Amino acid sequence: RAKAAGRNGYVTFETAMKDRANARQQLEGELRQAILNREFDLYYQPQVEARSGRVIGAEALLRWRHPRRGFVPPSEFIPVAEETGLIEKLGEWVLKEAAAEAIRWPAPIKLAINLSPVQLSRGNLTDTVTQALRLSGLPPERLEVEITENVFLEDEVNNLAVIRQLRSLGVSVALDDFGTGYSSLSYLTRFPFDQIKIDKFFSMNLIERSDCATIVSSVITLARGLGISTVAEGVETVRQFELLREAGVDYFQGYLFGHPVPASALNFGAAHDITRITEVA
Ligand code: C2E
Ligand code: MG
Ligand code: MG
Ligand code: MG
Repeated sequence: RAKAAGRNGYVTFETAMKDRANARQQLEGELRQAILNREFDLYYQPQVEARSGRVIGAEALLRWRHPRRGFVPPSEFIPVAEETGLIEKLGEWVLKEAAAEAIRWPAPIKLAINLSPVQLSRGNLTDTVTQALRLSGLPPERLEVEITENVFLEDEVNNLAVIRQLRSLGVSVALDDFGTGYSSLSYLTRFPFDQIKIDKFFSMNLIERSDCATIVSSVITLARGLGISTVAEGVETVRQFELLREAGVDYFQGYLFGHPVPASALNFGAAHDITRITEVA
């Protein structure tokens, strides 16, 4: 029986499923431990204004340094943290830690942090944000939260209410990874976003694919009409930067302007000379 099952693939499939479930479970345990052991760290990536070349903000990006496995990318552990609910604790830590850091940055440089849809649908996100602002002394105008299109998949009524509450605190709200998920342009009119972050997919394919360029320019036109600013993510080359700037993108984020770095390595000093920006390794 087992042999037969093996031949038609069931055993292998089952084994693979079990392996995956085990790996998940192990990761979940390690994630719990990691919170207690303080194995998390925040890196920050600068955001640059197209017009002036100045750094106007930085996005906090979570890093997990696993004692044995080394660096574990967010794409691996965030989904597990979301499924297990651990993202609430982790997200609260991110908010407080990043706000405490950002209060030391020269005003009016802004802090951007990522929120999981789970944080919006559960618990008391508005209270957590209020508390992080109060504890750090960071003015709400200097905080921006980034949410993905996934918030529209479930609990749309609640999530819309949470977004409104955050905005009424004075916090701005960005739509992250725009164009990758279940985006519908109508979300832009129904939800009160301050900013759209055009996903790195578009920056990276802009040159080879004319459809990407078409989408980017439509999004910019629409955003302008709605009074929403735009950021291009994943800008790595001068050519990409030039095309996006000509298309009318307001802000840039990507390796061309700076990799995510520890807070101590952030440099808010001199503006980038955007008329002669050059690639650095
Ligand atoms: P994201 O919010 O879209 O963040 C941008 C990602 O693009 C980061 O990946 C960043 O390192 C990467 N990136 C920036 N510039 C470039 C570039 O020029 N080229 C390329 N190839 N990549 C670039 P990272 O740090 O691995 O984070 C991945 C995702 O994990 C984030 O995407 C965000 O969705 C999530 N994430 C990170 N930190 C947090 C957090 O504190 N909370 C939550 N809920 N999610 C987080
Ligand atoms: Mg983001
Ligand atoms: Mg994202
Ligand atoms: Mg993004």
